[in-house]
Amino acid sequence: MDGQVLLDAIELIKGFLAGFEPDRYPGVDAAELVRRFTTIERLGAAGKTLAAGRVQRSGAWRTSGDRSPEAWLAAETGTSKSESVGVLTTASRIDGLDATGAAMREGRLSAQQTAAVASAAAVDPDSEQTLLDTADRQSLQALRDEARAVRQAARGEAGLADRERIHRTRYLRHWTSDDGAFEGRFRLTPDHGAIVLAALQTHRPSSCEDGRDAAEADALVAVARAASAGGNADSDVPPAVINVRVDYEALRRGYTEPGETCEIEGIGPVPVATVQAAADDAILRAILTDGHRVIDECTAGRTITTKMRRAVKERDRTCAVPGCDETQGLQTHHLHDVRLGGPTKLTNLARVCPHHHDQITYQHAQLTGAHPHWHWQPPPGKESIFDLPPTTDPPAETERETPPRPSPRHPDLPPSPGPPPKPPPIRRRRPE
Ligand SMILES: [Zn+2]
Repeated sequence: MDGQVLLDAIELIKGFLAGFEPDRYPGVDAAELVRRFTTIERLGAAGKTLAAGRVQRSGAWRTSGDRSPEAWLAAETGTSKSESVGVLTTASRIDGLDATGAAMREGRLSAQQTAAVASAAAVDPDSEQTLLDTADRQSLQALRDEARAVRQAARGEAGLADRERIHRTRYLRHWTSDDGAFEGRFRLTPDHGAIVLAALQTHRPSSCEDGRDAAEADALVAVARAASAGGNADSDVPPAVINVRVDYEALRRGYTEPGETCEIEGIGPVPVATVQAAADDAILRAILTDGHRVIDECTAGRTITTKMRRAVKERDRTCAVPGCDETQGLQTHHLHDVRLGGPTKLTNLARVCPHHHDQITYQHAQLTGAHPHWHWQPPPGKESIFDLPPTTDPPAETERETPPRPSPRHPDLPPSPGPPPKPPPIRRRRPE
């Protein structure tokens, strides 16, 4: 092993640091030192990642008696297991990403930037150069957003499966802290998150001397106050406003292709179906783009007037799905897949419970016909004719799912990326 040059370099750096007195440097020189040490740090991270990948592939980690390559790396480097998982995941992804490998080796990427680029370029190699350019010019957050959008586009319909998975593991928990504060945490799908954010937005105080987080907390209390004052959440209060930015072509097609955008402001990239579903009960302010150019702005035509909202509420007192007598939290569903700008008429509307609304939006169930003769076709694979919503009784304590801890693996991507999935068929909901 020709590692002598590295040992020499380490000794040189050690020698420098032994006599290093930062306060003897003028500020501008110190800033230059930060740049140089950053390069050293990046080079170190690059070498570590590449070498750790080799240790994993060769199985050499087993000689240490550790249970996994991740455990070995965590013990070896004095870092957390989740960080080690990240390093090894990146190591497996950069195989074949030549430009990223080169940028790493030149010290142009931080470990986090490398991870973000690799996570997306591994599923869509065509995006590699664009991502590297973003890493060069923009913030880590911007890079991560772009990488997420690339992964989202590459996933196509698999994004809907992710949404299903998130939906199944949703929760909201609250407790009283040691000092008596009311605290909590929650987990929601992006589209439901957008509704929460939009509601907070309308109730957020314009200024709050205790800062942004405090303003957010005040908004939550204000939302709750408004809901209590209004009584039924399904009353005539105006619907939430959700801002989206979407490529016109993607919206028309029903899914994004690589390079296209579909994101909800404050949430990030989402499947196109999510935006379409959000339009059912909220006002959608859409910025339509053509790549990066804004070509139009519109407020979604699905907006239901207060008069129509009252009429449909009067007509559909229970969920419109035959056999379901749910009366709580009914949502207004558009029978025709009108997309943005489509017609909103009373005959085109039905009120359904959240459970059935979800099945229509995400699981290909269909509600057809007209009041009072609705026809329900449950999601493919569901046996029951009347797939009733779960009972409203809270589950027994032992059956509750514990809130998921942050996954040590990259949650958004399987470790070994396969070919990108085929684009989903454009789904239409038409009455027979
Ligand atoms: Zn129902």
